[in-house]
Formats: sequence, structure tokens, C-alpha cells
Amino acid sequence: MKENTIAKQLSLATEKLNEAGIENARLDAEVLLAYVLNTRRLALYVHVAKVLTDEQITRFHNLIKRRLERVPVAYLTGHKEFMGLNFAVTPDVLIPRPDTEVLAQGVIEHLHEFNRENLKLADLGVGSGAICVSILKFVENVTADAVDISKKALEIAEFNAEKFNVDDRMDFYEGNLFEPLEGNIYDVIVSNPPYIAAAEFKNLQVEIETEPHVALHGGADGLKFYRKIIEAAPKFLADDGFLAMEIGFNQSESVQKLINDNGNFKYLQVWKDLAGIERVIAAWKK
Ligand code: GLN
Repeated sequence: MKENTIAKQLSLATEKLNEAGIENARLDAEVLLAYVLNTRRLALYVHVAKVLTDEQITRFHNLIKRRLERVPVAYLTGHKEFMGLNFAVTPDVLIPRPDTEVLAQGVIEHLHEFNRENLKLADLGVGSGAICVSILKFVENVTADAVDISKKALEIAEFNAEKFNVDDRMDFYEGNLFEPLEGNIYDVIVSNPPYIAAAEFKNLQVEIETEPHVALHGGADGLKFYRKIIEAAPKFLADDGFLAMEIGFNQSESVQKLINDNGNFKYLQVWKDLAGIERVIAAWKK
């Protein structure tokens, strides 16, 4: 087999990534080569015998080298698909996870239950905008206030809002949680707050080190932001309004307790991800 065909380059790169212990070696190699060739991943299979130019091979090898340094694929290509939409991402934002689609989808379903015309949503820690932008994209009668403590993250969120034509229904605020929203009332408050406990960090994939720590660290027990959000949320929720938050794999019980102890919520729901893990808690205001 020739050294510079698509087939050969893919198998060489896969081998290298595999040797380095990278999980989805073949998939990563395909995504990166498709990126270099500006084509779809599946198109590679139609052209396996195609000979690559030296320039294409050099670019591909450079990307594989960075992947070997554990830079996530999404940061190398600058994109990540979420809810069927291709979001721009940079190392200033957390890479949207498939699990988080449970939050976006669940909120979309429950938004249809309101019988009011114009709904108002707040997203605390908007990051790339994946949650908020996809909700607005799929539900037309919603406007949103997006908050993030990171100015650079807000720039990405705004870019994505423009990309998917929902920027006219979205406002962006730099600040900490509810701080810039004082006095406002929302039908829905969503958040995927930082929730990783300090001691848990060392058990995670090396790649997570390349993501913004401010989006991940949830204090000593991982619950710091849930305490703050649950405490303040009732004041910002409309009657029948609800709060929906992503949670870590072992946090369901603790977060449910925080909500029940608060006393201002009438009931809650737990939404599971595809792996059956309790991934989202939604709580309705009393
Ligand atoms: N789901 C992320 C992870 O563990 C954490 C996201 C968060 O802290 N909100 O990879």
C-alpha cells in the first residue's frame, strides 16, 4: 500500500494514537483528516485510495502530534456538534458533551407546557452557548439572558448565537451567576455549573486539563455552585417556573436534598442520560 493514500495515513495515525492509549483512536484520526481535507468523515471511505499532497500530510501529522499531546479533537478542529448543530469552540470554553443534550432536550420539551406567549430563560455559566443557543434554535417564543464569568466565553457564545441566528433573542452578561440579573424574573433557569470535586480531578482523563478550570471546579465537594444557585433561584423564578441543572454522576441525591431543604420548590424531576445515569435535576417553584 502506498504511504500517502488516505487509507494508509489513517491506519498509521490510528496506530500511533492507539499506542499512546488514546481511546477513540480511529475516530479521532478520521475526524482530523476530514478536517484537513475539508470534507465529511464518511467521504474518506469513498476515497480511501486517494493520494494526499505533501501539504495535506504535513497538516495531518501536525494535528496528530497535538492530539498525542492530549489536546481534544474539538479544540483542534474548533468545532463540536451538539443537538445536531455545529458549535464553534476554543480552549476558553468547555467542550459540549453529548450527556448535556439531556438538559437541552428536557428543557425544550417542558417549555412547550407553558401557556404563555413569550418565555424568558436564563443560562448561568453559558460557556460556548451550546445549551442556550440550541434551546432558542428549537423553540421560537423564548428570549434568553446568558451569564458567564469569563468574557472570552461570552464572545464564543455570542459568535454561536449569531451563527445560528438567535442573537436577536439573546443578551450577554459578564458576571457571577445571578449577579448581573438582579430584579429579573424567568420562566426557566438552566445551568451546567462547574461540578467536579477537588479530589476527583486526578481520576479524570488527561484531556480535561486542557479545558477551562473555571468551568469545571465545583469546590471541595463539587456542590458549591448548586448551593448558590438553589438558594437564589426562587427569587428569580416566575410562578410555575423551573430550574434545570446538569449534575455529576454521583450528585443526584445531594442536589435533591439541597432542593428539598430549600423549601421553595414544590416538586422535582430527575432526567437520565443514555447510559442511565441521573444527569439533570429539574425543580419547579412553589
Ligand atoms: N461533564 C464534565 C466532565 O466531567 C464536567 C462538566 C461540569 O463540571 N459542568 O467531563
